[in-house]
Amino acid sequence: MVNTKFDSCVSFHINNNAFFGRFVRLDNVINTILSKHQYPKVVSSVLAESIALAALLASTLKYEGLFTLQTKSNGPINMIVIDISSDGTIRASASYDEQRIENAKKLRKTEDEHEEAPHYLGQGYLAFTVDQGGTDKMYQGVVEIQGKTLSECALRYFKQSEQIDTALKLYVKEPEYPEDKWQSAGILLQKLPNEGGTEINEDEVKDSWEEAVIFLESLQPQEIFDSNLSSEVLLHRLYHSHQLSVSHNKDYKFGCRCNREKLRTILSNMSEKEIDSLSEKGKITAECSFCGEKYSFEKGELIKQ
Ligand SMILES: [Zn+2]
Repeated sequence: MVNTKFDSCVSFHINNNAFFGRFVRLDNVINTILSKHQYPKVVSSVLAESIALAALLASTLKYEGLFTLQTKSNGPINMIVIDISSDGTIRASASYDEQRIENAKKLRKTEDEHEEAPHYLGQGYLAFTVDQGGTDKMYQGVVEIQGKTLSECALRYFKQSEQIDTALKLYVKEPEYPEDKWQSAGILLQKLPNEGGTEINEDEVKDSWEEAVIFLESLQPQEIFDSNLSSEVLLHRLYHSHQLSVSHNKDYKFGCRCNREKLRTILSNMSEKEIDSLSEKGKITAECSFCGEKYSFEKGELIKQ
């Protein structure tokens, strides 16, 4: 029994290993990340949903190092950066224009109308990279931000680049009451390429794929965000008649990779003039955009001798 609930990813196979999936549910890790920032609600929501997507994408790759999902676009939220290291440590930040967020909200027909992520991101692209350090090649995927939802945008990537049949759904739940938590989740299903060897009936595979996708889409937010239900129980509800097998994939936690020495090196590479323009009373203070940690340097520490 894989008794996993939140802040983790489970892998599953159905239909005699013909289709494989990943199921990610996040709560504490999202809340810790968001507590490091004071983002407007819509920014928190887009970031929480993007982190679920990043976790799903990272979970489909075999890597030792760092996975990064980044958006760059012309909307009110113009950049998102999410890092997931292979041990499950996540950090994330967003940059946005407060006035444009307010203006975008004014265009809503009703106060509670929920706009999807692409509405706030605008035009641009979503890219991900895998950095394994050393001499290992950096893997990169890019897709334009298009579609009504972030899921649609991610599906375009799989269609264009990977050409693997993929179904994917993302979910985000905002806190309704002060004691509530943020939650986000994502589920992905892929048709594994037939490696040959076994005779398969294409029509049968097509039918069972379509059925598996319909079942995936039947998953309801209230089930996903029910903290009494394990991920395996939820998958069992969908696929108990599909030779389901489930295994634990990864746990997630918050962590930042910033440190004083790294930042000192970056600042030391600036010219004396730039350092002067940043310093106040001979001191330079810089804040990590991921975790909010403040670092302070004496001017003398930074200027190359
Ligand atoms: Zn940091």
